[in-house]
Amino acid sequence: MLRIAVSEFGEPEVMKLEEASLPEAGPGQVVVSIKAAGVNPVDTYIRAGLYGTRELPYTPGFDAGGVVEAVGKGATRFKPGDRVYTAGTLSGAYAQFALCLESQVRALPEKITFSQGAAIGVPYATAYRALFQKARAVPGETVLIHGATGGVGTAAVQMARASGMVVIGTAGTKKGRDLARENGAHHVVEHGKPDHLKDVMEITGGRGVDCIIEFLANVNLGGDLKTLAGGGRVVVVGSRGAVEIDPRDAMGKDAVVLGMSLFNATETELKSIHAAIFAGLDNGTLNPVVGLQFPLAQAPEAHHAVMEQKALGKIVLVP
Ligand code: NAP
Repeated sequence: MLRIAVSEFGEPEVMKLEEASLPEAGPGQVVVSIKAAGVNPVDTYIRAGLYGTRELPYTPGFDAGGVVEAVGKGATRFKPGDRVYTAGTLSGAYAQFALCLESQVRALPEKITFSQGAAIGVPYATAYRALFQKARAVPGETVLIHGATGGVGTAAVQMARASGMVVIGTAGTKKGRDLARENGAHHVVEHGKPDHLKDVMEITGGRGVDCIIEFLANVNLGGDLKTLAGGGRVVVVGSRGAVEIDPRDAMGKDAVVLGMSLFNATETELKSIHAAIFAGLDNGTLNPVVGLQFPLAQAPEAHHAVMEQKALGKIVLVP
Protein backbone atom coordinates (compact mmCIF):
# COMPACT_ATOMS: atom_id res chain seq x y z
CA MET A 1 0.00 0.00 0.00
CA LEU A 2 0.98 3.65 -0.28
CA ARG A 3 1.36 5.98 2.68
CA ILE A 4 2.87 9.32 3.59
CA ALA A 5 5.93 9.09 5.83
CA VAL A 6 7.57 11.84 7.89
CA SER A 7 11.20 10.99 8.73
CA GLU A 8 12.22 14.42 10.03
CA PHE A 9 10.28 17.35 11.45
CA GLY A 10 10.11 20.41 9.22
CA GLU A 11 8.34 22.06 6.33
CA PRO A 12 5.43 20.32 4.52
CA GLU A 13 7.90 18.90 1.97
CA VAL A 14 9.29 16.46 4.60
CA MET A 15 6.18 14.37 3.85
CA LYS A 16 7.07 11.70 1.27
CA LEU A 17 4.91 9.09 -0.44
CA GLU A 18 6.28 5.54 0.11
CA GLU A 19 5.37 1.86 -0.27
CA ALA A 20 4.63 -0.06 2.91
CA SER A 21 3.21 -3.44 3.84
CA LEU A 22 -0.47 -3.79 4.74
CA PRO A 23 -1.18 -3.45 8.47
CA GLU A 24 -2.60 -6.54 10.24
CA ALA A 25 -5.39 -6.29 12.79
CA GLY A 26 -4.29 -7.54 16.22
CA PRO A 27 -6.67 -8.22 19.12
CA GLY A 28 -9.22 -5.41 19.53
CA GLN A 29 -7.99 -3.72 16.35
CA VAL A 30 -9.53 -2.89 12.98
CA VAL A 31 -7.90 -2.22 9.60
CA VAL A 32 -9.68 0.48 7.61
CA SER A 33 -9.35 0.88 3.84
CA ILE A 34 -9.14 4.65 3.56
CA LYS A 35 -11.14 6.42 0.86
CA ALA A 36 -10.41 9.97 2.12
CA ALA A 37 -8.26 11.40 4.93
CA GLY A 38 -8.90 14.72 6.69
CA VAL A 39 -6.17 17.36 7.00
CA ASN A 40 -6.30 19.21 10.33
CA PRO A 41 -4.17 22.19 11.43
CA VAL A 42 -2.81 20.00 14.27
CA ASP A 43 -1.29 17.64 11.64
CA THR A 44 0.87 20.56 10.51
CA TYR A 45 1.95 21.46 14.08
CA ILE A 46 3.01 17.84 14.71
CA ARG A 47 4.84 17.61 11.34
CA ALA A 48 6.73 20.81 12.17
CA GLY A 49 7.81 19.32 15.54
CA LEU A 50 5.85 21.95 17.47
CA TYR A 51 3.22 19.76 19.16
CA GLY A 52 3.71 16.86 21.59
CA THR A 53 6.23 14.11 21.13
CA ARG A 54 6.15 11.81 18.15
CA GLU A 55 8.64 9.08 17.25
CA LEU A 56 10.03 9.23 13.73
CA PRO A 57 9.24 8.03 11.15
CA TYR A 58 5.45 8.29 11.36
CA THR A 59 2.40 8.67 9.11
CA PRO A 60 0.27 11.77 9.87
CA GLY A 61 -3.50 12.00 10.18
CA PHE A 62 -6.28 11.23 12.65
CA ASP A 63 -9.41 11.42 10.52
CA ALA A 64 -10.59 9.31 7.62
CA GLY A 65 -13.67 7.99 5.89
CA GLY A 66 -13.45 4.43 4.60
CA VAL A 67 -14.48 0.80 4.78
CA VAL A 68 -13.52 -1.88 7.28
CA GLU A 69 -10.99 -4.21 5.64
CA ALA A 70 -10.31 -6.63 8.51
CA VAL A 71 -11.07 -7.03 12.20
CA GLY A 72 -8.88 -8.61 14.87
CA LYS A 73 -9.85 -11.05 17.62
CA GLY A 74 -12.32 -9.60 20.09
CA ALA A 75 -13.26 -6.65 17.85
CA THR A 76 -16.98 -7.28 17.54
CA ARG A 77 -18.57 -3.94 16.63
CA PHE A 78 -17.60 -4.04 12.95
CA LYS A 79 -17.26 -6.51 10.09
CA PRO A 80 -15.40 -6.21 6.76
CA GLY A 81 -17.29 -3.94 4.35
CA ASP A 82 -18.81 -1.65 7.00
CA ARG A 83 -18.69 2.08 6.17
CA VAL A 84 -16.85 3.95 8.94
CA TYR A 85 -15.03 7.13 9.93
CA THR A 86 -11.98 7.18 12.15
CA ALA A 87 -11.41 9.47 15.12
CA GLY A 88 -7.74 8.67 15.59
CA THR A 89 -5.68 5.77 14.24
CA LEU A 90 -2.66 3.77 15.43
CA SER A 91 -0.74 3.90 12.16
CA GLY A 92 -1.80 7.25 10.58
CA ALA A 93 -4.64 8.23 8.24
CA TYR A 94 -2.57 9.61 5.33
CA ALA A 95 -2.41 6.13 3.76
CA GLN A 96 -4.38 3.62 1.76
CA PHE A 97 -5.00 1.53 4.89
CA ALA A 98 -4.85 2.38 8.60
CA LEU A 99 -4.67 0.26 11.71
CA CYS A 100 -7.05 1.49 14.44
CA LEU A 101 -8.23 0.51 17.86
CA GLU A 102 -11.84 -0.58 17.56
CA SER A 103 -12.74 2.36 19.85
CA GLN A 104 -11.28 4.81 17.29
CA VAL A 105 -13.70 3.63 14.57
CA ARG A 106 -17.30 4.83 14.27
CA ALA A 107 -20.15 3.93 11.92
CA LEU A 108 -20.65 6.27 8.94
CA PRO A 109 -24.28 6.76 7.87
CA GLU A 110 -25.05 5.82 4.24
CA LYS A 111 -25.94 9.40 3.27
CA ILE A 112 -22.51 10.73 4.29
CA THR A 113 -19.77 10.43 1.63
CA PHE A 114 -16.30 9.16 2.47
CA SER A 115 -14.83 12.65 1.95
CA GLN A 116 -17.39 13.99 4.41
CA GLY A 117 -16.42 11.12 6.72
CA ALA A 118 -12.87 12.46 6.69
CA ALA A 119 -14.20 15.81 7.97
CA ILE A 120 -15.77 14.45 11.15
CA GLY A 121 -13.27 13.06 13.69
CA VAL A 122 -11.38 16.10 14.99
CA PRO A 123 -13.63 18.94 13.69
CA TYR A 124 -17.06 17.69 14.77
CA ALA A 125 -15.83 16.27 18.06
CA THR A 126 -14.07 19.57 18.84
CA ALA A 127 -17.15 21.62 17.98
CA TYR A 128 -19.37 19.42 20.13
CA ARG A 129 -17.01 19.44 23.10
CA ALA A 130 -16.54 23.22 22.90
CA LEU A 131 -20.25 24.03 22.63
CA PHE A 132 -21.81 21.48 24.95
CA GLN A 133 -19.20 20.02 27.29
CA LYS A 134 -17.25 23.25 27.91
CA ALA A 135 -19.49 26.29 27.17
CA ARG A 136 -22.56 24.27 28.25
CA ALA A 137 -24.58 26.18 25.66
CA VAL A 138 -28.34 25.61 25.82
CA PRO A 139 -31.23 26.25 23.43
CA GLY A 140 -32.33 29.88 23.36
CA GLU A 141 -28.83 31.24 24.01
CA THR A 142 -26.94 33.36 21.50
CA VAL A 143 -23.64 31.90 20.30
CA LEU A 144 -20.86 33.61 18.35
CA ILE A 145 -18.87 31.19 16.21
CA HIS A 146 -15.76 33.33 15.75
CA GLY A 147 -14.46 31.72 12.56
CA ALA A 148 -17.50 29.98 11.05
CA THR A 149 -16.00 28.77 7.76
CA GLY A 150 -13.34 26.19 8.69
CA GLY A 151 -13.59 22.51 9.56
CA VAL A 152 -14.54 23.13 13.21
CA GLY A 153 -16.46 26.37 12.62
CA THR A 154 -18.86 24.90 10.04
CA ALA A 155 -19.52 21.99 12.41
CA ALA A 156 -20.16 24.36 15.32
CA VAL A 157 -22.61 26.45 13.28
CA GLN A 158 -24.59 23.34 12.25
CA MET A 159 -24.68 21.98 15.82
CA ALA A 160 -25.66 25.28 17.43
CA ARG A 161 -28.40 25.88 14.86
CA ALA A 162 -29.79 22.36 15.22
CA SER A 163 -29.89 22.79 18.99
CA GLY A 164 -32.06 25.91 18.95
CA MET A 165 -29.47 28.60 19.57
CA VAL A 166 -29.30 31.98 17.88
CA VAL A 167 -26.14 31.67 15.80
CA ILE A 168 -23.84 34.51 14.75
CA GLY A 169 -20.97 33.39 12.52
CA THR A 170 -17.92 35.30 11.32
CA ALA A 171 -15.97 34.90 8.08
CA GLY A 172 -13.13 36.59 6.24
CA THR A 173 -14.69 36.70 2.77
CA LYS A 174 -18.03 37.10 1.01
CA LYS A 175 -17.93 33.39 0.03
CA GLY A 176 -17.27 32.53 3.67
CA ARG A 177 -20.22 34.61 4.86
CA ASP A 178 -22.45 32.86 2.30
CA LEU A 179 -21.19 29.48 3.53
CA ALA A 180 -21.86 30.39 7.17
CA ARG A 181 -25.41 31.41 6.27
CA GLU A 182 -25.97 28.22 4.23
CA ASN A 183 -24.84 26.18 7.24
CA GLY A 184 -27.39 27.82 9.48
CA ALA A 185 -25.96 31.05 10.88
CA HIS A 186 -28.81 33.50 11.53
CA HIS A 187 -26.40 36.45 11.25
CA VAL A 188 -22.95 36.80 9.72
CA VAL A 189 -20.25 39.41 10.21
CA GLU A 190 -16.83 39.90 8.68
CA HIS A 191 -13.96 39.24 11.09
CA GLY A 192 -11.52 41.18 8.89
CA LYS A 193 -13.24 44.43 9.88
CA PRO A 194 -11.47 45.90 12.94
CA ASP A 195 -14.80 46.88 14.58
CA HIS A 196 -16.73 43.73 13.62
CA LEU A 197 -17.59 42.99 17.26
CA LYS A 198 -19.61 46.21 17.29
CA ASP A 199 -21.79 44.57 14.63
CA VAL A 200 -22.26 41.63 17.00
CA MET A 201 -23.32 43.98 19.80
CA GLU A 202 -25.81 45.63 17.44
CA ILE A 203 -27.26 42.28 16.37
CA THR A 204 -27.86 41.41 20.04
CA GLY A 205 -29.43 44.80 20.75
CA GLY A 206 -26.48 45.74 22.96
CA ARG A 207 -26.86 42.71 25.25
CA GLY A 208 -23.90 40.67 23.97
CA VAL A 209 -23.64 36.93 23.38
CA ASP A 210 -23.87 34.05 25.84
CA CYS A 211 -21.10 31.93 24.32
CA ILE A 212 -18.19 32.46 21.97
CA ILE A 213 -16.38 29.60 20.27
CA GLU A 214 -13.04 31.21 19.47
CA PHE A 215 -10.62 30.04 16.77
CA LEU A 216 -8.06 32.86 16.85
CA ALA A 217 -7.86 33.92 20.49
CA ASN A 218 -4.54 35.72 20.11
CA VAL A 219 -6.35 38.24 17.91
CA ASN A 220 -9.85 38.25 19.39
CA LEU A 221 -9.90 37.38 23.10
CA GLY A 222 -9.76 40.97 24.36
CA GLY A 223 -12.70 41.96 22.15
CA ASP A 224 -14.56 38.74 22.95
CA LEU A 225 -14.67 39.61 26.67
CA LYS A 226 -16.26 42.97 25.81
CA THR A 227 -18.85 41.20 23.61
CA LEU A 228 -20.14 38.74 26.22
CA ALA A 229 -23.45 39.10 28.02
CA GLY A 230 -23.54 38.61 31.79
CA GLY A 231 -22.52 35.03 32.70
CA GLY A 232 -21.02 34.61 29.24
CA ARG A 233 -18.43 31.97 28.33
CA VAL A 234 -15.60 32.04 25.78
CA VAL A 235 -14.09 28.71 24.74
CA VAL A 236 -10.57 29.04 23.35
CA VAL A 237 -10.34 26.38 20.65
CA GLY A 238 -7.58 27.96 18.55
CA SER A 239 -4.82 30.47 19.27
CA ARG A 240 -1.55 31.23 17.55
CA GLY A 241 0.18 33.56 20.02
CA ALA A 242 -0.22 35.88 23.01
CA VAL A 243 -2.89 38.54 23.54
CA GLU A 244 -3.62 41.40 25.92
CA ILE A 245 -6.97 41.38 27.74
CA ASP A 246 -8.60 43.62 30.33
CA PRO A 247 -9.59 41.23 33.17
CA ARG A 248 -12.21 43.77 34.30
CA ASP A 249 -14.23 42.88 31.21
CA ALA A 250 -14.57 39.36 32.63
CA MET A 251 -14.93 40.42 36.27
CA GLY A 252 -17.88 42.74 35.80
CA LYS A 253 -19.90 40.03 33.98
CA ASP A 254 -18.97 36.90 35.93
CA ALA A 255 -17.58 35.79 32.57
CA VAL A 256 -15.56 32.61 32.09
CA VAL A 257 -12.70 31.86 29.69
CA LEU A 258 -12.36 28.13 29.10
CA GLY A 259 -9.46 26.45 27.34
CA MET A 260 -10.10 23.17 25.63
CA SER A 261 -8.15 20.48 23.86
CA LEU A 262 -9.96 17.56 22.27
CA PHE A 263 -7.03 15.38 23.27
CA ASN A 264 -8.06 15.82 26.94
CA ALA A 265 -11.52 14.33 26.35
CA THR A 266 -12.18 11.18 28.40
CA GLU A 267 -13.48 7.93 26.91
CA THR A 268 -16.87 8.67 28.47
CA GLU A 269 -16.95 12.17 26.92
CA LEU A 270 -15.88 10.77 23.54
CA LYS A 271 -18.59 8.12 23.63
CA SER A 272 -21.18 10.82 24.22
CA ILE A 273 -19.68 13.15 21.59
CA HIS A 274 -19.71 10.52 18.85
CA ALA A 275 -23.20 9.29 19.73
CA ALA A 276 -24.46 12.87 19.29
CA ILE A 277 -22.53 13.28 16.03
CA PHE A 278 -23.95 10.03 14.61
CA ALA A 279 -27.47 11.14 15.48
CA GLY A 280 -26.95 14.50 13.75
CA LEU A 281 -25.38 12.93 10.64
CA ASP A 282 -28.17 10.39 10.49
CA ASN A 283 -31.05 12.87 10.92
CA GLY A 284 -29.51 15.34 8.45
CA THR A 285 -28.85 18.26 10.79
CA LEU A 286 -25.08 17.70 10.44
CA ASN A 287 -23.66 17.72 6.93
CA PRO A 288 -19.84 18.08 6.74
CA VAL A 289 -18.55 20.61 4.21
CA VAL A 290 -15.62 19.48 2.07
CA GLY A 291 -13.59 22.35 0.59
CA LEU A 292 -10.50 21.15 -1.30
CA GLN A 293 -9.48 17.63 -2.26
CA PHE A 294 -5.87 16.63 -3.06
CA PRO A 295 -4.38 13.28 -4.11
CA LEU A 296 -2.38 11.63 -1.29
CA ALA A 297 0.93 12.45 -3.00
CA GLN A 298 0.07 16.15 -2.66
CA ALA A 299 -0.01 16.09 1.14
CA PRO A 300 2.59 18.94 1.21
CA GLU A 301 0.29 21.17 -0.88
CA ALA A 302 -2.61 20.27 1.43
CA HIS A 303 -0.57 21.34 4.49
CA HIS A 304 0.28 24.66 2.86
CA ALA A 305 -3.39 25.16 2.02
CA VAL A 306 -4.65 24.41 5.54
CA MET A 307 -2.31 26.94 7.12
CA GLU A 308 -3.13 29.56 4.49
CA GLN A 309 -6.84 28.85 5.15
CA LYS A 310 -7.46 28.49 1.43
CA ALA A 311 -10.44 26.17 1.84
CA LEU A 312 -13.98 26.80 2.88
CA GLY A 313 -14.75 23.71 4.93
CA LYS A 314 -12.49 20.69 5.16
CA ILE A 315 -9.33 19.82 3.21
CA VAL A 316 -9.22 16.15 2.27
CA LEU A 317 -6.58 13.79 0.83
CA VAL A 318 -7.69 11.00 -1.50
CA PRO A 319 -5.37 7.97 -1.53
P1 NAP B 1 -9.50 25.81 9.40
O1 NAP B 1 -10.42 24.88 8.69
O2 NAP B 1 -8.21 26.19 8.79
O3 NAP B 1 -10.35 27.13 9.77
C1 NAP B 1 -9.76 28.28 10.30
C2 NAP B 1 -10.85 29.26 10.64
O4 NAP B 1 -10.28 30.42 11.28
C3 NAP B 1 -11.60 29.76 9.41
O5 NAP B 1 -12.99 29.77 9.68
C4 NAP B 1 -11.10 31.20 9.28
O6 NAP B 1 -12.04 32.05 8.66
C5 NAP B 1 -10.95 31.53 10.75
N1 NAP B 1 -10.27 32.81 10.96
C6 NAP B 1 -9.31 33.42 10.20
N2 NAP B 1 -9.04 34.65 10.69
C7 NAP B 1 -9.85 34.82 11.77
C8 NAP B 1 -10.07 35.88 12.68
N3 NAP B 1 -9.39 37.03 12.60
N4 NAP B 1 -11.00 35.72 13.65
C9 NAP B 1 -11.72 34.58 13.76
N5 NAP B 1 -11.55 33.53 12.93
C10 NAP B 1 -10.64 33.65 11.94
O7 NAP B 1 -9.13 25.19 10.82
P2 NAP B 1 -10.01 24.28 11.82
O8 NAP B 1 -9.69 22.86 11.60
O9 NAP B 1 -11.43 24.72 11.76
O10 NAP B 1 -9.36 24.72 13.21
C11 NAP B 1 -9.51 26.07 13.65
C12 NAP B 1 -8.53 26.33 14.80
O11 NAP B 1 -8.88 25.49 15.90
C13 NAP B 1 -7.07 26.00 14.45
O12 NAP B 1 -6.22 26.92 15.11
C14 NAP B 1 -6.87 24.61 15.06
O13 NAP B 1 -5.53 24.36 15.41
C15 NAP B 1 -7.75 24.72 16.28
N6 NAP B 1 -8.26 23.41 16.76
C16 NAP B 1 -8.15 23.18 18.08
C17 NAP B 1 -8.66 22.01 18.61
C18 NAP B 1 -8.61 21.79 20.09
O14 NAP B 1 -8.79 20.66 20.54
N7 NAP B 1 -8.40 22.85 20.87
C19 NAP B 1 -9.21 21.03 17.77
C20 NAP B 1 -9.31 21.32 16.40
C21 NAP B 1 -8.83 22.53 15.89
P3 NAP B 1 -11.80 32.69 7.18
O15 NAP B 1 -11.01 31.69 6.38
O16 NAP B 1 -13.20 32.89 6.68
O17 NAP B 1 -11.07 33.98 7.39
